[in-house]
Amino acid sequence: MHEKFETHEHDVLIIGAGGAGLRAAIEALGHGARVGVVCKSLLGKAHTVMAEGGIAAAMANVDTADDWRTHFRDTMRGGKFLNNWHMARIHAQESPDRVRELEQWGALFDRTSSGDILQRAFGGHTYKRLCHVGDRTGLEMIRTLQDRGVHLGIDVFMECAITKLLKDGDRVSGALGYWRETGRFVVFKAKAIVVATGGIGKAWRITSNSWEYTGDGMALAYDAGAELMDMEFVQFHPTGMVWPPGVQGILVTEAVRGEGGILRNKDGERFMERYDPEKMELSTRDVVARAIYTEAREGRGTEHGGAYLDISHKPAEYVKKKLPSMYHQFRELADVDITQGPMEVGPTCHYMMGGIRVDAETAQSTVPGLFAAGEAAAGLHGANRLGGNSLSDLLVFGRRAGSAAAEHANGSGPVEVDAQQVLEGTRELLAPFESDGDNPYQVHRELEETMQNYVGIFRNEEDLQKGLGEIEHLNERAARVRVEGSRLFNPGWHLGRDLKSMLTVSKAVALSAAARKESRGAHSRIDHPNYDETWAKQHNIIAREGDQMTLKQLPVMEMPADLKEIVYG
Ligand SMILES: Cc1cc2nc3c(=O)[nH]c(=O)nc-3n(C[C@H](O)[C@H](O)[C@H](O)COP(=O)(O)OP(=O)(O)OC[C@H]3O[C@@H](n4cnc5c(N)ncnc54)[C@H](O)[C@@H]3O)c2cc1C
Repeated sequence: MHEKFETHEHDVLIIGAGGAGLRAAIEALGHGARVGVVCKSLLGKAHTVMAEGGIAAAMANVDTADDWRTHFRDTMRGGKFLNNWHMARIHAQESPDRVRELEQWGALFDRTSSGDILQRAFGGHTYKRLCHVGDRTGLEMIRTLQDRGVHLGIDVFMECAITKLLKDGDRVSGALGYWRETGRFVVFKAKAIVVATGGIGKAWRITSNSWEYTGDGMALAYDAGAELMDMEFVQFHPTGMVWPPGVQGILVTEAVRGEGGILRNKDGERFMERYDPEKMELSTRDVVARAIYTEAREGRGTEHGGAYLDISHKPAEYVKKKLPSMYHQFRELADVDITQGPMEVGPTCHYMMGGIRVDAETAQSTVPGLFAAGEAAAGLHGANRLGGNSLSDLLVFGRRAGSAAAEHANGSGPVEVDAQQVLEGTRELLAPFESDGDNPYQVHRELEETMQNYVGIFRNEEDLQKGLGEIEHLNERAARVRVEGSRLFNPGWHLGRDLKSMLTVSKAVALSAAARKESRGAHSRIDHPNYDETWAKQHNIIAREGDQMTLKQLPVMEMPADLKEIVYG
């Protein structure tokens, strides 16, 4: 059957060409595997390219007292101890080598006067730890990884969306997708697959995320039988643009605060003194986001419902050098000169701490041959991610996923692609052309409102139940969306497919959020405002049984004594 379609065969198929996917590809190639990389957009345009502030790694170039132990402790404390400690330890220990490697491959970082990689302060990090290139770190990272990967000979399939994972018994055997330009189907056969598709921000109305962040990888893995973990933990970054409306949500990097930016309310009060007098603007993101939201809700917000963030006390040339993207962003989009006056900022949906449950050493999911890394995977960040810990996560666990996937492929026999699974996948994709239901854009707008209003920064039982009810209705409508026109580059058709992923992941988020009856990290329950001892020891696990989404709890792994000493000692 699959002979009917364009078919490609690899040992390892990597879905996603952001930092995690590219790092995995480089590693798998190094292990002798034939590697294919598929991405929805053009190579080099993945979300990673938007990363601004930097990569967290305890290199101790600026603050010499820093070491992996402090980074490990900061990450665990920031994640409110729900992190997979094994991942957090590996991450803290391996990040410096991964950054050095990036430098050897050609990345040009900002430098100290003695020529080392310069590091800046960020929220929740005890020391200056973020290796950066002005506020364009992601661009340098993706450029370097892309150059390296292309030079080594990765096979890249751009503007191609994967819509289904295929299985041979329990194992993965490939994936079905379509070319965004022509709408033609394509089958990938592979012994191992790495999901590196990033997060799910497009399910919320106010978000820093681009159109690509529709939770595809998490939903694909869930459909294929993998478990999702801790989906309630969605990070709302404290500082997105709030004005004008067309740019609402676009990120204002934490580097502004890292470089000395000050937050004030409409009365000119430096309100972080009331929320975290010790760390002030460099408190963790969950705390700062709630502080800004609360100021606005209680009538002390700016004209457009945010807070003022001011860096204009620093010399103009310094601001332009350290924050060039922010300078241009505000000049061009809001007609504000940030060297002269404050920016208006407010919380924006930014990052998914939850995701595919993976093994710490190998990044393998609960499905044999299916691996996940980067934002699509769960574990490292627990209940709240520290800024800069994502880019280092991509390098550390992208590398591990690539290596383990290649080994898995090298050690396993041939896999078969099941024609029936392909046929079902194509039928489902074509259904909207025959349907007479809603327009996908309308369903998406309603999903964004639902998630923003009921599964947002502050939550309670009533809202979450309302949200779950709405998601159920939207699911029914999404199954019958109607699209006009042909399969030739048809964004409405693409969105109709993306809706399926967004709704699966949104339901997982709302279900997990309703279950966790406590407040922890990014999950803030007005009706359960405190930590709960029982929930401190449990992860939420989402899985599929037939057509049903199930939720169960998994005990948090006990930390060994030496690590406890680092964290609590
Ligand atoms: C504006 C902004 C600034 C940030 N700044 C920082 C920072 O300074 N430091 C930091 O540590 N973190 C930062 N982050 C977070 C960090 O950038 C992301 O978490 C990280 O880049 C995710 O990388 P990834 O490799 O997991 O996914 P991505 O880089 O998003 O790549 C996902 C890839 O998957 C592909 N894809 C998705 N679905 C499909 C599908 N169905 N089929 C085929 N391909 C698919 C996409 O096309 C893309 O190639 C920032 C995030 C944003 C939005």
